[in-house]
Amino acid sequence: MVQCANHPDREAVAKCRRCGRNFCEADLEEVGNYHYCFECLKEISRESRGAQHGQTTAMLILGVLICVGLGTFLFLGQLNNYIALINAARIGGIDALKAALTTAMILTILPMTALVLLYYALAVGLMEARGWSLAFALLLNCAVVAWKLYGFFVGQREPLLGFAVMIAVPILVVIIIVWNRHHLSV
Ligand SMILES: [Zn+2]
Ligand SMILES: [Zn+2]
Repeated sequence: MVQCANHPDREAVAKCRRCGRNFCEADLEEVGNYHYCFECLKEISRESRGAQHGQTTAMLILGVLICVGLGTFLFLGQLNNYIALINAARIGGIDALKAALTTAMILTILPMTALVLLYYALAVGLMEARGWSLAFALLLNCAVVAWKLYGFFVGQREPLLGFAVMIAVPILVVIIIVWNRHHLSV
């Protein structure tokens, strides 16, 4: 007789489909015409829970696209400044570059370029379902919205489209990420 792997005195009735060991009736469960031992069933349910986490869902892909879109929107907004600096350096050398880099330009280019990179970083974090992207997204987007609202209340006027994008899109990104936070765990 074939012995049960758990009970040497009992006869095995079937093999576990996953581990291939022989078991008696009491040690097996039938799932969809296959027999599994309890150890393997536990393992399988753990694996399927793990697979649900760290999964890039369609919603997170949407978040990635929005972040890349916003990053690119901000990059294009600075394109004239970048081109002006490159032209100054190309035509007039380092002195012209220094002259072109006024304080006002630095104050625009530096934070906007940082924002471009931060949104691209967030897109990478979301694409890989990284656990840190939730906290990162909350910090980044709340800071952007707060900064824009502050600018509005102290009377900074800017094109309506840019202002609306910089308020609505970060809020949308936060909603998407908070909604899908249980998928962010790697
Ligand atoms: Zn098994
Ligand atoms: Zn047994």
